[in-house]
Amino acid sequence: MTKTNSILQDSFGRDHAYLRISLIEKCNLRCSYCMPEEGIQLSPKSHLMTCNEIYTIAKTFVDNGVTKIRLTGGEPLIRKDIPEILQKLATLNVELSITSNAVIIDRFIDILKANGVKKINVSLDTLDRDKFKQITRRDQFTKVYNNILLLIKEGFIVKVNAVLMNDFNENEIIDFINLTKDLPVSIRFIEFMPFDGNKWNMSKMVSYKQVMNLVNANFNKNEILRLQDAPNDTSKNYKIKGYKGSFAIISSVTNPFCDSCNRLRLTANGQLKNCLFSSTESDLLTTLREGNPIEPVIKKAVEAKFKIRGGMNTLKKLQEPKLHSQNRSMITIGG
Ligand code: SAM
Ligand code: SF4
Repeated sequence: MTKTNSILQDSFGRDHAYLRISLIEKCNLRCSYCMPEEGIQLSPKSHLMTCNEIYTIAKTFVDNGVTKIRLTGGEPLIRKDIPEILQKLATLNVELSITSNAVIIDRFIDILKANGVKKINVSLDTLDRDKFKQITRRDQFTKVYNNILLLIKEGFIVKVNAVLMNDFNENEIIDFINLTKDLPVSIRFIEFMPFDGNKWNMSKMVSYKQVMNLVNANFNKNEILRLQDAPNDTSKNYKIKGYKGSFAIISSVTNPFCDSCNRLRLTANGQLKNCLFSSTESDLLTTLREGNPIEPVIKKAVEAKFKIRGGMNTLKKLQEPKLHSQNRSMITIGG
């Protein structure tokens, strides 16, 4: 175990330069893999971080080495004070990006640009309007699709996140890849992950291997180019020769990328999660509100980070429903 002075280095020597901040627990969609059917117990408003608190906590992380902040949720853009939050965070010396379902993102183009946001990840799991309505429980496909085109036209770097599920959208993998022929977009296929209330089971998940088998069956070997992954990238990136865009697979279940993990997560109610799969949290917001320094709490939380998937280091453990329910639903973590 390494001893270090940096509060953002864990006991395995991993430095954490990337903070994902969830701004809100609510969403204007209801994706079944993310939000339990019965809804979730929302935190009282007074328990959520205010704009100033988000800034203060984010600044502490930046002062200690964070260089990238991604805003997420729930749906971050439905938070009323999102313009102020963007403006305040833009004053920090970080790369600021956002993950959104893009339903209302057309109203925010200028604000995003003015605050230096260049990279936007958008969720879209199907190219079929009826299936979109089925998975998100809302009829917003056309809006989202048109907004993806708008973001590209406006010059943003757009990644599209598609959570793959057997008997739902595994038959659209090639259609998604074909989209990259003319669109300069990266389609990221995400292995369906278990969280509280999302009725996960291994048979619903489409694996990295399954995706690549399909790709190999549909394209010639010499057309499939393996791209160089960025450092700390969670995805394995590919491109079809001559296509404008690319595609990638995020294999958190079958092939976790924990060795190079540099991420920490802050929930909308101010809890620090040292891993997406971790069932333990550290209460930064209460510490801040009590007037105490948050650095020691951050240091302890980072030091306690498990080597692999919040301690679920085997596929057997990952499949234990008891362990999923100790974690939050994804909508209250922020993916
Ligand atoms: N509302 C925004 C959106 O949908 O992009 C941001 C929040 S959402 C929780 C962030 C990401 O988490 C989305 O790309 C979504 O697809 C992903 N996600 C949610 N539940 C998931 C699950 N069970 N397995 C894999 N990815 C999931
Ligand atoms: Fe909302 Fe995003 Fe979760 Fe879908 S994945 S319910 S859009 S937070």
